[in-house]
Amino acid sequence: MKLTFAEQLKFSEFDNFVINFSGGIDSCASLLWVKENFPAKNIIAIYCNISVTLPTVRNFVLDFCIKTKTKYKILKVPNFLDILPQKGWPKWRFPWCKKLLINDYIDAFVKNNFSPEKTLRIIGGNIKQAPRRINRYQWTKIGSYKVYNSVFYSDRSDLIQYIKNKGFDIWNGYKLGFPRTACWCCPGQSCVQMYLLKRYYPNLFEKFHNLEIEYGKCLFKSMSGKKPFMKTAEEWVLSGERKYKRLYKSDIR
Ligand code: SF4
Repeated sequence: MKLTFAEQLKFSEFDNFVINFSGGIDSCASLLWVKENFPAKNIIAIYCNISVTLPTVRNFVLDFCIKTKTKYKILKVPNFLDILPQKGWPKWRFPWCKKLLINDYIDAFVKNNFSPEKTLRIIGGNIKQAPRRINRYQWTKIGSYKVYNSVFYSDRSDLIQYIKNKGFDIWNGYKLGFPRTACWCCPGQSCVQMYLLKRYYPNLFEKFHNLEIEYGKCLFKSMSGKKPFMKTAEEWVLSGERKYKRLYKSDIR
């Protein structure tokens, strides 16, 4: 993924490369890509510690930054579980936690430390997921900062290979089958993620399940938002109508 000289010129206006770093495959590949192509620039990875990430992710993030000799900043942000009673269960499509506990903190940190003229923000995400994302282009903007997605056109398997070819490893959870480095209580997690949560972290799954029942009422509305389903959250979860229940009914409960 080495850029040609002409391609590198497109980035010559920037002195600072600030990476939204989650420890995921996209983040790791993006970080290595920046280091490969712009080794003389000021490169920094930013991670938000929201206290409910899957076990081992935070240590992996630290370890990866240290091994790659990358400057990093771990932002202390409020604990998701402390805010949950006030904000309610996050909606799948636009979760408040992603904005309030991650994006807003990273944006504020960048704004306070780097000038928009000299700074490029690096994010991850694939073109295949683009229609579901707010950032659906390779080049975009956050406020007055230019943003570039370096892995936009890359396949996941190629990114893993790229990371390995550089002599680094991916987060261990991927090897267990977890698709994402998400929070254990993420309402948007896939059925596979939930299944593996239950398998490897049964206590966290139990907590997640109870939180979903306690706080998830806002989600149990019809798609139009006009007519609520005639079910409580608990009935909804236990009835098997949650998507993960359909796939893994016998395994989960
Ligand atoms: S992973 Fe899920 S719960 Fe965690 S911040 Fe993102 S949307 Fe929220």
